[in-house]
Amino acid sequence: MNDSATLSNIPLETRSAGADLRPIQENGERAVFCGLTSIIWLHRKIQDAFFLVVGSRTCAHLIQSAAGVMIFAEPRFATAILQERDLAGLADCHEELDRVVAQVLQRRPQLRNLFLVGSCPSEVIKLDLENAAQRLNHQYGGRVRFFDYSGSGIETTFTQGEDSCLSRLVNHMPEDSSGEAKLLVIGTLPDIVEDQFLRLFNDLGIESVEFLPARSLDSLPAVGKQTRLLLAQPYLGQTARALIGRGASLVKAPYPLGAEGTLEWLRAAARSFSISDDKFEQVTSAPLARARHALSLQRKRLEGKRICFMPDSQLEIPLARFLQRECGAELLEIGTPYFDRQILQPELSMLPPHTRVVEGQQLNDQLDRVREAKPDLTVCGLGIANPLEAEGLRTKWSIELMFSPIQGFEQAGDLAELFCRPLVRNERLAV
Ligand code: SF4
Repeated sequence: MNDSATLSNIPLETRSAGADLRPIQENGERAVFCGLTSIIWLHRKIQDAFFLVVGSRTCAHLIQSAAGVMIFAEPRFATAILQERDLAGLADCHEELDRVVAQVLQRRPQLRNLFLVGSCPSEVIKLDLENAAQRLNHQYGGRVRFFDYSGSGIETTFTQGEDSCLSRLVNHMPEDSSGEAKLLVIGTLPDIVEDQFLRLFNDLGIESVEFLPARSLDSLPAVGKQTRLLLAQPYLGQTARALIGRGASLVKAPYPLGAEGTLEWLRAAARSFSISDDKFEQVTSAPLARARHALSLQRKRLEGKRICFMPDSQLEIPLARFLQRECGAELLEIGTPYFDRQILQPELSMLPPHTRVVEGQQLNDQLDRVREAKPDLTVCGLGIANPLEAEGLRTKWSIELMFSPIQGFEQAGDLAELFCRPLVRNERLAV
């Protein structure tokens, strides 16, 4: 594997433009959702799992309203609400938890996998869910598998819920002793995108490809020294490190957002399996042309637009790279909640030098900068968007990008269009 080779298609003069970028650190008030939010896309993806949040009424409201699911629809998530007696240490929380788990399983006898999801309240009272999962695994004798992870909002942002979930699954993945090279794609992708990528990998000649998370937990992929990790999402540092600890090697690549990001992501995988350049061109040329055409239709709306990212989803750096390089936007500031150089380095190399990257948040200071700069578009969390809109600034909810299929060649045009929408709405309102 060769890091620099993954970027060989990028014009030489810009190849390492932002490689040495050092983010400015901010520390203060933040406005982000917590990791429980990731249950929304995780439960859609992992179709045989149930997510039981051990938390407060606030946690239950968050999940219920964020998921927008009517209670009659029997969603595969619920909240075991900690009462005052639990919080005061007057009740045995483990007994209560066992009772709620038994209720869930009685109502859903077909369930085979259940996640116990920690929250701020369960962390504050130090409820040991790892221990509880082990105890329940023993009690149910393998009929139901129990996993645990934390979705707490203490010092975390909402995409870390997925990182926490997947990193816990790594402990349950079997050892791969086949000796056969295998590609493991990490990060939740909508099924339609997963199918497109699988076809492309197979056309390239990479036959052994698995995804984490997959649609079912029944057959967790095996991991070993021959496993090559390809991250599909830029917020999975903890999971990547856990898999590297199991012997896997990381394929360094930008993320599959936009035509260029997707091309370089696939190229990195192809190079790690010694696929020839000719074969790579042959497989990718048609979808690449379609993606470039779709982007050309949107580019005219985004060209020259001044864009600011506030820290929220951790997708900020790859999205900014896409908007700047493929849509011609000007980047005023990229705020990101966390900056993990190990998994973001190939992205930095594609940013213009001197791009302002800010890690963490001091909300009021950042809002002052946004108000002063008056960007054409601010990509931010839900809670900040409405006040900014009321002040006449156009915004894009960053969480919307988590619920939309945006990765891959076929979605490149749609991704650009998502950023065009607020601008188009603004023009219409002006008329
Ligand atoms: S986990 Fe924490 S931040 Fe999230 S809803 Fe529950 S109490 Fe609020």
